[in-house]
Amino acid sequence: MLEITGIHKSFGNNKVLKGVDIQIDKGDVVVILGPSGSGKTTLLRCINFLETADQGKVTLGDTELSLNSASKKQIHEVRQKIAFVFQNYNLFNNKTALENVTEGLIIGRKIPKGEANEIGRKALDKVGLSDKYDAYPKELSGGQQQRVGIARAVSLNPAIILFDEPTSALDPEWVGEVLAVMKNIAEEGTTMLVVTHEMSFAKDVANKVIFMDGGVVVEEGTSEEIFSRPKEERTQQFLRRVL
Ligand code: ATP
Repeated sequence: MLEITGIHKSFGNNKVLKGVDIQIDKGDVVVILGPSGSGKTTLLRCINFLETADQGKVTLGDTELSLNSASKKQIHEVRQKIAFVFQNYNLFNNKTALENVTEGLIIGRKIPKGEANEIGRKALDKVGLSDKYDAYPKELSGGQQQRVGIARAVSLNPAIILFDEPTSALDPEWVGEVLAVMKNIAEEGTTMLVVTHEMSFAKDVANKVIFMDGGVVVEEGTSEEIFSRPKEERTQQFLRRVL
C-alpha cells in the first residue's frame, strides 16, 4: 500500500539516511525502533515531504512520486492521504480543540464548516475528548493536546498516519492515555507507521517492527521475531540496553 524505496538524506556532511526501503500493507501497525540519531524522525519527515530527501521514491496506491523532485501539487495530493502526528502536537494556540481538528478539513479539503464540525466532533469523541471541543490548547494537559493532534489526523481519514515520537514530549503521567488511544485506533484497522521509544507499544500493538541504526534498516520482522529472537548483533545490543 505504501512503499518507500531508496531514501537517502544528508544534512551537510552528515549522512543520516543511507538507502532505506520500507513496505507497509493496509492495516499494518509498523513501529520503527532505533538509537537516538539513527534517522527515524528524518525518515518520517522525508516520507511526508516535511524534509526533502536527496534521493528516493514513495509509492502510495497507484501514485509513485520522487521524494526530491515532486511538484507542489503532487505533494499536496500525497499529504491528503498521509497524516502526521508531531512530537510537540503542533496545535494552533489561538484555536479551540475542535477548530484545530477542522482547520485541515475546511482549508485543505474544502469541506463545508458544518460538515467539518461534525467530522471533527466525532474524531474528538474517538480520542475521549467529548467534553473539550471548545477548550484552547493552554487549557489542556499535554496528553489531551496530543489526543487533539491524533483526532486531527484521524479526521482526515488518511490512508496512513505517521507518528513521530508522539509521547516523548509528555510528562510520564500522560503517556498511557495517548498510547491507549493509539492502540484503539490501531485495533480499528488504521494503518500506522510509528517512531517511538515505547517498547510496550511496539511489543503489544505493532505487527511489524523495524530496527534502524546508522541510517539503515538493520533488521525487520514481527514484534515476536524482533523482541524474542533478534538475529542481528546490533539489534540484540539495543534491546539489551532498553528492555
Ligand atoms: P531520536 O530518537 O533522538 O529522535 P532519530 O533517530 O529520530 O533520533 P533524527 O532526529 O532523524 O534521529 O536525526 C538524525 C541525525 O540527523 C542527527 O544527527 C541529527 O542531528 C541530524 N538532523 C536531523 N534534522 C536535522 C536538521 N534539520 N539539520 C541538521 N541536522 C539534522
